[in-house]
Parts: sequence; C-alpha cells; structure tokens
Amino acid sequence: MTMTTLATSLLTLVELPYAYDALEPYVSAETMHFHHDKHYATYVAKLGELIADTRYQQMPLEDIIRSSDGAIFNNAAQVWNHVFLFESLSPRAKHHPTGELRRSIDEEFGSFDELKQRMTTMALSLFGSGWVWLASDHDGRLYIVSKSNAGTPLTDSLIPLLCIDVWEHAYYIDYRNMRKDAIDNLWKVIDWSKVEERYDAIW
Ligand code: MN
Repeated sequence: MTMTTLATSLLTLVELPYAYDALEPYVSAETMHFHHDKHYATYVAKLGELIADTRYQQMPLEDIIRSSDGAIFNNAAQVWNHVFLFESLSPRAKHHPTGELRRSIDEEFGSFDELKQRMTTMALSLFGSGWVWLASDHDGRLYIVSKSNAGTPLTDSLIPLLCIDVWEHAYYIDYRNMRKDAIDNLWKVIDWSKVEERYDAIW
C-alpha cells in the first residue's frame, strides 16, 4: 500500500513545488519564504542534529514519527507536516473533489461545503498552535482530526489526506490575527486533485 505521494527524501530540504509568489494573493511570497526557508528549514536542520548518531538516523521519516517523542518527534512531525502541506497547495488548484473521495465526503459529512465548514470551525477553535487534518482509515472512512503542536494522524494509524497549518507563522505576516480570513483564502489554493490522489492510493 502506498501511504502518500509525499516526496521520499524527507531528511533533506524539499524545495517548494511552485514559485514563492505562485499562491498570491492568497498566500504572499513573503509568507512562503518565511514558512519554507525559515520555519520548515529549521525543523529539517534541527531534526538532522537530533538524530545524528542515533538509531533514528537511517529510519524513514514516518517510522521516526511513529517511534519517537519529545524534540525528535516534534521536529520529525513538523518536517513531514510541512512537506505534506506545501504539496497540498497549488496555483492551479482543482477546487472541488470528485470521484470516490467526493462520494465519501458526501456520505460522511453531507456535502463538500459542510466538510469545509467543519474543518474551518475546528481550525478557528484550536487553542494555540496545531494542525487540522482530513484523514482516512484503511477502509476509506473519513475523519477530521485536530492536533496540537506537531500532532499528526499518522500516530493514530490514520492516513493523512489534507492539513491546515494553524500555527500563527502560517498566516500572521499576511493576515495578522485574522485566522478566519487566512483559512477562507487557503481553501482557494488547496488542490483537491492531490487529495484525491492520496485517497485513491489507499486501495
Ligand atoms: Mn507551518
């Protein structure tokens, strides 16, 4: 089973799959430079330092995430989460899911709008820093999962399909304290063809 289409070499810095200004006006080039080159790159560098000469050094990133805690877990999960986030966005985003994923969304949540509303509400009510995830179990049943800090549904044996970064660093440059505006606009660059690809890879 293919877990995801995530880039394979995750212990080194993964470049953005589009230009820094590609998601404007919804996410600015300045935000992307800080988010990718500073925040994400720091997690990569820190993880490298932490796992040097340990049993984690030769482990796939997902195995590190499932078997560590503390600083190693935090940095490993933040590396994974950010590559996954950046790959979820596109300047040529498909704005609505179709096919099997759409059927499952309608069945579980009633409608695509309802799914977006619920994820937005969870992102707005998440206290502090964290992530809101759309994830699937191995039978294709969908779940919305809210996680603090570096949390990921990988540790719940769920398959991540989509994430919203609710850390202030993801939106504060562009939106200041207006988290709702940031999330409303993020939906405009979430590429549902990528989410469908991840869902279809479960089988
Ligand atoms: Mn982030």
